[in-house]
Amino acid sequence: MKVNHNYAQLEESYLFQTVNHKVAEYAKAHPERQIIRLGIGDVTQPLPAAITAAFIEGAKEQGKPDTFHGYGPEQGYDFLREKIARYYQNEIHAEVSAGDIFISDGAKSDVGNILDLFDKDNTVLIPDPVYPVYVDTNRMDGRRLVFLQANEENGFLPMPPEGQEADLIYLCSPNNPTGACYTYEQLTAWVQYAISQDAIILFDAAYESFVTENLPRSIFEIPGARGCAIEFCSLSKTAGFTGTRCGYTVVPQELCRDGMHLHAMWLRRQTTKFNGVSYPVQRAAAEVFTPEGMAGCRANLAIYQNNARIIAETLTKLGVWFVGGKNSPYLWLRCPGGLSSWAFFDELLEKTGIVGTPGSGFGACGEGYFRLTAFGSEANTKEAMKRLEEAYA
Ligand code: PLP
Repeated sequence: MKVNHNYAQLEESYLFQTVNHKVAEYAKAHPERQIIRLGIGDVTQPLPAAITAAFIEGAKEQGKPDTFHGYGPEQGYDFLREKIARYYQNEIHAEVSAGDIFISDGAKSDVGNILDLFDKDNTVLIPDPVYPVYVDTNRMDGRRLVFLQANEENGFLPMPPEGQEADLIYLCSPNNPTGACYTYEQLTAWVQYAISQDAIILFDAAYESFVTENLPRSIFEIPGARGCAIEFCSLSKTAGFTGTRCGYTVVPQELCRDGMHLHAMWLRRQTTKFNGVSYPVQRAAAEVFTPEGMAGCRANLAIYQNNARIIAETLTKLGVWFVGGKNSPYLWLRCPGGLSSWAFFDELLEKTGIVGTPGSGFGACGEGYFRLTAFGSEANTKEAMKRLEEAYA
């Protein structure tokens, strides 16, 4: 027998392992020092009360003969898909119908699983630095990767490369790890490029709810995108579902390539390999899109957005170059003093007890940069910024 040797080509991810190891060493050496973690990409606020109430109600229904639900509908319950479609139409102003939407157990699985639809001989454009899942899932299949350099010159928002062919294009906006967010004009250029290449954009909108300025929250706000894009979205950051698990994927019903309907292919793939998200979770997810549920989510998002503002103000005051923080929970800064990402990690931890994430862990273009996140508490974020000012003023 043979195994998939592409797995041997995967780079080991030592990023968070090394971070944890270094933090443990520091804690041992400085037991008196309070360590502040501004490196995590997980939310910290609990689910809003209206959402947990719906979750509990859904679980109770499963215990009664007349309200029990077995296997759910293939694309997810209508009550949830219709609410998401209305959210797209009324809040985001994007042309998405319930029929386009597939409920998932989160964006990560679908971002990886969608590759079942595409040949291994495709050329894939991936920005660098990047959410590592795009790279590893393609390497597992042995696809050809072309990295798009994100840097200070392009504001960490790479544009279509001239003369480069592409079949699949990954875009994440607002971006993890950089927090940078594409404009309408920039995404229009990407849609036009994808159409010219007969390519598909795989658009990760996991952070759409952080957008406060007049910037796109969905690729489907861009004319022509229904003919060239698939979008992944998640309730993880919008509604605190990182541990509850629910997301949605939009595959326009008319989207075709190579003589095949991608929507029909994805339905076939999902009905063959996935049996849906649990009923109570879908009930909880539907509550996100009610006025009360959304108000609870907005209140939590406001805490993170305020933290991001506090960090941004401090970096500005210190004269540190950065992107993100405005329409994103991430801030991506140039390491002071020209330090490498890991050298700055060590220095920052030693001087201040603050833990961030070295940019080099997200790709070669991340070297010399550093990610801070706004997912901590307000008190910790303020204390961290006080220490940062003292150390770097
Ligand atoms: N996409 C991006 C860009 C992310 O940063 C994350 C999580 O950190 C995900 C997808 C995963 O989302 P989910 O929790 O829905 O699987």
